[in-house]
Formats: sequence, structure tokens, C-alpha cells
Amino acid sequence: MQYQIVAQAYEQMGKTTKRLELTQLLVELFKQTPPELIDKVVYLTQGKLYPDYTGIEIGVADKLAIRAIAIASGKPENKVEQAYQKTGDVGEAALEALNNKTQTTLFSQTLTVQTVYDTFDKVAKTTGPGSLDYKIRSFASLINNATPLEAKYLLRTATGKLRLGIADYTVLDALAEAFAGGKENRTALERAYNLSSDLGAVAKAVREGGLQGVKNFKITVGRPIRPMLAERLETASEILEKMGGKCAVEYKLDGERIQIHKKDNNVTLFSRRLENITSHYPDIVKQSPKSLRGKKIIAEAETVALNIETGEYLPFQELMHRRRKYGIDEAVEKYPVAVNFFDILYVDGEDLISEPYRRRRQVLQKIVVEDERIRIVPAITTSKPEKIDEFMQEAITEGCEGLVAKELDSPYRAGAREFAWVKLKREYRSELMDTVDLVIVGGFHGRGRRGGRFGTYLLAAYDKESDMFRTVTKVGTGFSDEDLEKFPKTLHPYRIAHVHARVDSKMQADVWFEPKIVIEVAASEITLSPIHTGALDSIRKGAGLALRFPKFTGRIRDDKAPEDATTTKEIVAMYRKQLKKINEPQES
Ligand code: ATP
Repeated sequence: MQYQIVAQAYEQMGKTTKRLELTQLLVELFKQTPPELIDKVVYLTQGKLYPDYTGIEIGVADKLAIRAIAIASGKPENKVEQAYQKTGDVGEAALEALNNKTQTTLFSQTLTVQTVYDTFDKVAKTTGPGSLDYKIRSFASLINNATPLEAKYLLRTATGKLRLGIADYTVLDALAEAFAGGKENRTALERAYNLSSDLGAVAKAVREGGLQGVKNFKITVGRPIRPMLAERLETASEILEKMGGKCAVEYKLDGERIQIHKKDNNVTLFSRRLENITSHYPDIVKQSPKSLRGKKIIAEAETVALNIETGEYLPFQELMHRRRKYGIDEAVEKYPVAVNFFDILYVDGEDLISEPYRRRRQVLQKIVVEDERIRIVPAITTSKPEKIDEFMQEAITEGCEGLVAKELDSPYRAGAREFAWVKLKREYRSELMDTVDLVIVGGFHGRGRRGGRFGTYLLAAYDKESDMFRTVTKVGTGFSDEDLEKFPKTLHPYRIAHVHARVDSKMQADVWFEPKIVIEVAASEITLSPIHTGALDSIRKGAGLALRFPKFTGRIRDDKAPEDATTTKEIVAMYRKQLKKINEPQES
């Protein structure tokens, strides 16, 4: 397959922001792709080589790309650099440098998708002395064989700036339409994706086996399963009513969620957003083979920092000490953790995710060998609201955030946030609203003390139905001096010239960002708003919903992908709850 087909498809995709049109272009591209390349084309289209959880990125720096363009085009490096400075885009710089190059030296060899992928792959994996030189040469040779259009996309892909705005669900729609009989069969593909977090693997399964192929898709140890998430309710009686009069309630520990994959003595750990975090927890890696009975296991736990003298749980922030490249052994000594298991998804060939909660909990009790640091999360099963309240008190006394209620007969719903799990946190009971997690999409320059930096950020909630980010508030309080210093640096790589294709905003920000960084914000009220686009028309025609008096809590939620941010649907639910509270007479 020629790379040109892919580059031309990208060019078309760049011209639209409409999801339907994007999907159609993807369908056409996928149909032209031979089965052995389908996974690679899927990864490339999202600017990747492998699924995210592998952590492998092409990672070519702009500087290196500029040198490669200079070599391939025969132009002086400073000329290419100038073109780059003008647009801020290496792709455009390549296009400009190669555009007036004579045709004869181009097309010396037709570029294939396979060659492009293999070169990227080698570049991504080459390290050590001499690797820079190797990377520049490999790249220059790719560019040398590329048409200007191909070069534009080669370079954008390599430098991590492809940004076609194609979300996972758009790829699934397109695959369903191309190979599984239509979009109405997307749920089968979604299931396979939720079990593997690997769009390439799903693409391969559906391309080779059609709808049946994805229906037969199985869990593999080593591929993370997308986490099941919890809805929220405010009282024990609401929870019991929702769960058919009886449920289990477990402590909700405030730590880091991990998914443990054990294959004999080999242990891999994934975070809530499915990053490989094995290196943060060498202690767990060492302990797991002994603590989990069985050869092949996938289980979930919350790790919590521990005061080893008193055995008490410590706040979430203490775990940050584990996120480091160097000195991890000292951190393990100094900041010990307890691993609190709450679910089990797979044991020695048995897929447990379709089993009801009560059976999974029984299996968990058989598999986990408890000790001082390895525990099973405390749980009770009850039909009485007073019992839940009592258990909540116990949980809070022990330093937990609250409880998670679990429906006894529910399977593990990978990737879903439903009422089969419901969190009950103590804040819900106060008049203050719960915190929300929102995505930074824009910034406004500050005045005075904040001159030159950003004083205020434009935040958006995720609209899952349309796969868009819609604004709900501007936040300017709660930032420490350190935050004000740090934020521009963190956001710099995501700065873009225009509002992002997946962001819907009526407000004009001074700068725009790609939706990437999620922050936690506390707010005390939700109101109708003519200027925010979140939940537009859902309460009143022409009005969106906005958070009032928002305050940054100091917590960047880097354990959340932008699609894990609070949804516009949740904000509508919160708004309705708040109204109910105001309208109902308060008990005194
Ligand atoms: P929050 O913003 O409240 O941390 P979240 O959006 O990260 O929540 P939720 O689905 O709302 O995730 O809440 C479930 C989270 O609670 C899990 O991701 C997990 O990290 C944590 N947790 C702690 N104890 C439990 C438990 N017993 N069962 C399930 N999840 C638990």
C-alpha cells in the first residue's frame, strides 16, 4: 500500500471538523488497506505506532526534523528553520522546502506504508550513542523519497503533531462501517476495545473475521482492560433504591488505581488511564507473584500511601513520591504503600468479567493472600440504609473518601460509568458541590501580578455523545505562585493557533490549547449561561450550563485522559440535583 493514499486521506481529513465526514474518509481509507496493515494504519492515523499503554512514541524532536528536511531538500538549515518559525509547523516547513525541488530527484522510490512504519519504529526504538545521527539519516532518506504532501504528514506524525482530531470512537465507527456490517454494530467493537485498549488489535480482528471475529475477541494478560467507573448518588437510601433494595458497599480509598497483570512471575501495572506504571512500584512487582495465587491473573486494586508505624492511610499526595525515574528504591523505603484489592477480572484462562460481582468477590478472597501491605478492601452486604451510614462513618474514620456501592449481580462493565457502581462521598452531603474534573482548552493573559502569564483558563467538560469538549467555566483562583509558573510550561506543547476541532466555544480565548490537561475544580453553584456551550439547550433553549465561583483545588488530574473528564451529562445531573435541593424545604 502506498503511503500516498494515507497522506491524501489526511489532507482531506484536515479540511473538515465534522465527525460524520471524518468517519466517512476513514471508512474509505480502511477499505483500501490490506489486512496485514490495518492495525498499522489505525495507529498511524492517530499519530502512534502502538497502543498508548506500551508507552512507545516516535518522539522525533522538531530540531532533528528540521535537519533531516535540510539534508533531503538540499536547502540550508537556517532557511528551513525560518519556514518553521513562520508557521510553527514542521510539516509546512517540509512542504515549503520540497515544493520547488525538481521532480527528478523526488520519487526515487515510491514510499509504502510498510516502509514508513518500519522506519518510524526503528527511530522510536533506537537509543544510545550515535542514535541521533541514525535518526536524522533514516528520516532524511524517507523525506528524500517522499512527495511534498507525503513529507508534510511524515513530519507531522514523527514530531507528534498529526492532530487530525480522530478520537477512538470515530475509529470504531469507521471500522464497524467498513467491516462489520454498519455502525449499528459498533457495540461489538467497543466491547473488544474495552477488553484490550488496543484499537489496532480490534481493527485486525474485525478486518480478518468480520463481526464474528470481534465477538470472539478475548482478554489477554498484558493488555489493559478499560476500567469500570462509578456513578454518584447522595444518600444511602437512593443507592439502595437504585440497586434493587440490597447491595455491597466497600471502602473508597483515596489512592491510585492500578490494574495488575501477572503472568507467572512477570508483573505489569497499569494506571487508571492505562499507562504502564510498573516502574513506580517495584515493591508490588516483587510481592505480587507471592500474593496472588494462580499463574495468570488480572486484578484491580487501589494503592494507598501508608504510615508504617501506625498502619494508617496517608493522603493521596504522598503517592506522588513514587512517580520518579531515579531514586525509586529510596522512595519505596520512605513511602511504603498498601495494596487494596477490590476486583478480579481473569484467573488462569477464566474470564471473570461477565461474572456477577458476588462471585468475583469470592474468587478475590480465594486468590489474594493478605498480609500487612496486601489487603482486600473491606466490604459489607446490606439492605439497610443505617448500616451503610455506619460503614461510611467507619470508612471516614479510617481515612477513606467514602464508599463505593456495588450491585451484587452486575458483571464488570469495562469502560463504562453506570449505576452498577455508585460512589458515596462525604462532600455530597454538604451544600457545596462536589469537585469536577475539567479540561483546559484556552487561556487568557493575566494582568498585574500575573502579567505575561495566563491569569485565567477556559475549561470544558466532555460531551460523550458528540465526542466534543464544551466550555463550562473560566477559572482564575486557587493557583499558587508555583502553579502559575508551572502551568504555561505544562501547556506549551499543546498550544495551537485556532480553537481545536473538538472544542466548542463561543468565547474567544487569547490562546488555545489542544484538549489534554485535566484539572480538578471545586465550584459552589451551576447556573444557566448564554456564553458557555456545555449542555447547550438541555435545560433551556439557547442556554448552556456554567459553574460559578470555580476554584482550582491544586490537583492536576494526570491520571485522567481528557475523555475521562466530567461529562456535560453529569453537569446536567448536578444542576438538576441542586435545583431539587433549593426547591425542597430544608430540614433544620
Ligand atoms: P474520583 O474523581 O472520585 O477520584 P474517578 O472519576 O477517578 O473518581 P470514579 O469512577 O468516580 O473514578 O470512582 C472510582 C474510583 O475510586 C476508582 O477509579 C478507584 O480509583 C477508586 N476506588 C477506591 N476504592 C474503590 C473500591 N473499593 N472499588 C472501586 N473503586 C475504588
